[in-house]
Amino acid sequence: MNHFDYRDGVMHAEDVALPAIAEAVGTPVYVYSTATFRRHAQVFRDALKPAGRVHLAYAIKANPNVAVLRVLADEGYGADVVSAGEMQRALAAGIPASDIVFSGVGKTRGELAQALDAGIGQFNLELEEEGEVLAALAHARGERAPAVLRVNPDVDAGTHAKISTGRKENKFGVAIDQAVAMFDRLSKHDGLDLRGVAIHIGSQLADLAPLEAAYARIGELVAELRAAGHRISRVDLGGGLGVPYKPGDVLPSPADYGAMVARATADWDVELMFEPGRVIAGNAGVLLTEVIWVKPGVVNPYVIVDAAMNDLARVAMYDAYHDFVAVAPTGERMMANIAGPVCETGDTFAMGRDIDAVKSGDLGVFRTAGAYGATMASTYNSRALVPEVLVDGDRFAVVADRIHPETILAAERVPEWLKR
Ligand SMILES: *Cc1c(COP(=O)(O)O)cnc(C)c1O
Repeated sequence: MNHFDYRDGVMHAEDVALPAIAEAVGTPVYVYSTATFRRHAQVFRDALKPAGRVHLAYAIKANPNVAVLRVLADEGYGADVVSAGEMQRALAAGIPASDIVFSGVGKTRGELAQALDAGIGQFNLELEEEGEVLAALAHARGERAPAVLRVNPDVDAGTHAKISTGRKENKFGVAIDQAVAMFDRLSKHDGLDLRGVAIHIGSQLADLAPLEAAYARIGELVAELRAAGHRISRVDLGGGLGVPYKPGDVLPSPADYGAMVARATADWDVELMFEPGRVIAGNAGVLLTEVIWVKPGVVNPYVIVDAAMNDLARVAMYDAYHDFVAVAPTGERMMANIAGPVCETGDTFAMGRDIDAVKSGDLGVFRTAGAYGATMASTYNSRALVPEVLVDGDRFAVVADRIHPETILAAERVPEWLKR
């Protein structure tokens, strides 16, 4: 459920008409709904009530805007971060360091030290050497770093190859059959407080079966680790729950997921950690765009919009589907391709799609753009970096400025020897 609805024929974000935002801020622009973020945060939390002791760490990479993080901090969410930059954002948003989980396959030694200085709550180790380095850094400070070992359970999550992370050939986690021996060795370091294990098998999961299979393997691993004499107090089950992108898409609900988790983990007796990203942010945002031209095509016309692959990369990167609707539909339909202005054929959002009829100057939105949208934006083709707006009831604020090409240009320079 989300709060982007038509009122009197015009799409609103909560109580704000989208044309008012386009007028004030220009297009393209991401528009987020506070009420939708809050609702998703609450639904996900409620869904996990049957699972017992639970800690929720929002996966910041889905949407790291500091205002969004503030809303989720208000809802009691911690943060899952994958870089020192994300950690700084979480701290800036008021998320306590102890509620921050540091994931990521390539944490640098500098980032590990920064995170120790900040006192973050959990390091998710990706390889043995990382554990050794972290232990040494912590020991030198007279501390023990709280950590879990990320395991690769070797299951096929059944999602797009580029967002699948839990097969043995993927770069993430340590092979599950080596986990006990590695845990043994790492647990001997004074500088580590090794509390358990973590997994995250992929994103936009449309089926609970691979997750359930992975959780079953983790359950066996927990039993093996305990049999080997280890105290296991935490298991981090990652994120990955999918969201509907296409009208008619049916996905497992958070409640289905919570029931499965409760079933799969019933006898684990641990604190469960979760790292939801997309399921919190996906439907809480749209990308608002203006039609520049409707260009006749050979088969269908091209609707050329002012948003492009540099603003919303998911279509070019993952062959993703984003629903496109007019902000003020007339009731007429057209068969069209939708593309942006970037000089790449990949800058095409849809081919041969039945959409609301639009013409130059009309506004439209790409729906379900709240996750992995603005955060992946670039300035390719020397386009501006896309701004973000947060709506709350009948008010809205720009929460990330449009960064213009001249600002980017100002950070570049011609070296002395090329000056004339
Ligand atoms: C990306 C990521 C997540 C969030 O994934 P979603 O599919 O957005 O829920 C959680 N944990 C880790 C380690 C990740 O890399």
